[in-house]
Amino acid sequence: MTGPQDSPQPAKPMVRFDRVTKRYGPLTVLDRLDLELAPGEKVAIIGPSGSGKTTVLRALMTLERIDEGVIHVGGEPLTHMRRGDSLVRADQRHLRRMRGRVGMVFQHFNLFPHMSAVRNCMEAPVTVLGLGRDEARERAAGLLRMVGLGDKLDHYPAQLSGGQQQRVAIARALAMRPRVMLFDEVTSALDPELCGEVLAVIRALGDAHDLTMLMVTHQMGFAREFADRVCFFCDGRIAEQGSPQELFGAPKNERTRQFLSAVM
Ligand code: ADP
Repeated sequence: MTGPQDSPQPAKPMVRFDRVTKRYGPLTVLDRLDLELAPGEKVAIIGPSGSGKTTVLRALMTLERIDEGVIHVGGEPLTHMRRGDSLVRADQRHLRRMRGRVGMVFQHFNLFPHMSAVRNCMEAPVTVLGLGRDEARERAAGLLRMVGLGDKLDHYPAQLSGGQQQRVAIARALAMRPRVMLFDEVTSALDPELCGEVLAVIRALGDAHDLTMLMVTHQMGFAREFADRVCFFCDGRIAEQGSPQELFGAPKNERTRQFLSAVM
């Protein structure tokens, strides 16, 4: 017999967008967006160009200021703090703490060109987390080994292939021990033969960790295989979402059907 204490509580969302609106002048890029990710959930965002996919990730990284709504990470508002019953704009300390919860891998790697692979992965842990250099180097080397670059620690970005640079970028984001990892079309700047090695690393991360992962991708095959849930974006909102089987196998929305028939 199971008592009430054994019945699992639904996990609090790790990420929650609550009616988030973002505008650029007259253009509404995110339109009262609601989006939740459970802890450990892997979600893929697909959709036409300009539908607001990258803006979702950038807002989560506090790289874009939102106009309305609230984003929560780990149950706390990202850019605001509770004071009594009201929310006030977060101070730098709160922002730093919240930013540490989210890591992002960009389309164009964005590595520091004048730093070796291992230095790239040490920089933020040393300067932001205050880790000692030896500990940061050990952490960085371990992560570079995990992404298959244990023999390239002292290589500079220019000495690495695009796929290898992207794997350094993944290790660099992980070095901050985030709870949420964001991937923005991480294979779109790569030659097709280099995509596989990057996707394999992401797949292994997904299998081995309870990281919450949110990925913007145009690789429908990968989204289908990797994601627990796929969200189809259109005009700054989620037009349709479901399991990969539902969304790719039997899309209900006409816009989803049109999009999928154009890209698959
Ligand atoms: P997606 O990732 O789906 O292609 P984005 O989130 O990058 O879409 O952009 C959504 C819309 O916002 C696009 O129409 C884009 O041109 C516009 N946009 C993005 N960044 C800016 C900016 N800094 N200033 C003005 N418009 C922008």
